[in-house]
Amino acid sequence: MADAEVKTFKSLGLCQQLVEACENLKWKEPTPIQAKAIPPALQGKDLVGLAQTGSGKTGAFVLPILQALLENPKPFFACVLSPTRELAIQIADEFKALGSDTGVKCATLIGGLDMINQAIALAKRPHIVVGTPGRILDHLSQTKGFSLRSLKYLVLDEADKLLSVDFENTMDDILKAIPQERKTFLFSATMTKKVKKLQRACLKNPVLVEASSKYSTVDTLTQQLCVVPPKLKDGYLVCVLIKKHGCKSMVFTRTCESTRLLAWMLRNLGFKAIPISGQMSQAKRLGSLNLFKSGESDILVCTDVASRGLDIPSVDLVINYDTPTNYKDYIHRVGRTARAGKSGIAISFSNQYTWMWIKQIEELVGKEFPLFPCTDDEASLLMERISEARRIAVMRIKEQSCKRKNREEEYDETDRFVASRGGKKSKKRIYKK
Ligand code: AMP
Repeated sequence: MADAEVKTFKSLGLCQQLVEACENLKWKEPTPIQAKAIPPALQGKDLVGLAQTGSGKTGAFVLPILQALLENPKPFFACVLSPTRELAIQIADEFKALGSDTGVKCATLIGGLDMINQAIALAKRPHIVVGTPGRILDHLSQTKGFSLRSLKYLVLDEADKLLSVDFENTMDDILKAIPQERKTFLFSATMTKKVKKLQRACLKNPVLVEASSKYSTVDTLTQQLCVVPPKLKDGYLVCVLIKKHGCKSMVFTRTCESTRLLAWMLRNLGFKAIPISGQMSQAKRLGSLNLFKSGESDILVCTDVASRGLDIPSVDLVINYDTPTNYKDYIHRVGRTARAGKSGIAISFSNQYTWMWIKQIEELVGKEFPLFPCTDDEASLLMERISEARRIAVMRIKEQSCKRKNREEEYDETDRFVASRGGKKSKKRIYKK
């Protein structure tokens, strides 16, 4: 089907109920990936979907699954796997939003949250299970009555990440626990050889649908570079944030520790910054995300945990404080802005050690990034205040760690006391240590 012919959700073959569901979400017409993926998916084909974040790829697999479910309502009909907890929540929300009038039941199984509540949701025999691989596997092995043996659809979102070594064993175990006879959809912004490997292993004559070239970024994204002497790095960061005052920004760092430190430092300087990293509890991660989404905070300092698939509306600016070491991380990070046709800016910091990575990224993206207008002098002028703000941040983090350690020690003492009197739960904690 030529793109020009595709104008409406109806013309893709979707039933009236789902066309109305799209209208209720104010989706006027299908996005390119939806236009390409939905017709073959409705015909029962397996799919490999190559689409950028923000392209509407979630709808591209949610809509055909909902249509198949309407035709054949069954519990544990589809399972969607995501590499991150936040993305899983987002996917489940889209199932609920598009399926609200059709009574679709969806369970979200992610780490960091209580397993019992999730087991209760599974006992209600949901149609759709969305989750992260580790937690889904935990439930498959521990939750009585939960099985995916009757599964009809399997979706791997951010498939290249799910097929990386990080998830290899868990994915193998899940694939063993689901039927071979099923439809499989793989979606990813970047395609690896591993995806091709799984394509051979699990997919049956898949249709490749592509809404972007392999390494492309959207035209509405302005990509710039800051060549930053290491000792002026924070000066440049603050300088960019001042020059881009009023922007909703995400600052990407390499480590969890620096998200915390930078967020505190920026807060000491009067910015409304908040950290998110894999080291935080799930409740805290969601709390940070909600503060950022609601606008109470306008700077999210994050690791790559936030780079994949998160749909945070209207991020204006992505700052790569630590240079991404490969093009894939770059694509995912900058994909947080300039979404759904809006414009956005990505500014990457680089120095003599990371210059090569930027050159590789520029080559793959097909553009040379112009310099963001900021000078060493401008950054130097801010350094005195920044050093003080950083010093206070370091002190505060040390204090917090001490307090936490003390609390843990206190808890441990109580634990040992209860354990010595036969407390079961506490014993487990001591063994763990
Ligand atoms: P995704 O790439 O799936 O994360 O989607 C990015 C954003 O686009 C989400 O907020 C979706 O709700 C929205 N979206 C998806 N499909 C459409 C559409 N056809 N028209 C307008 N917005 C859409």
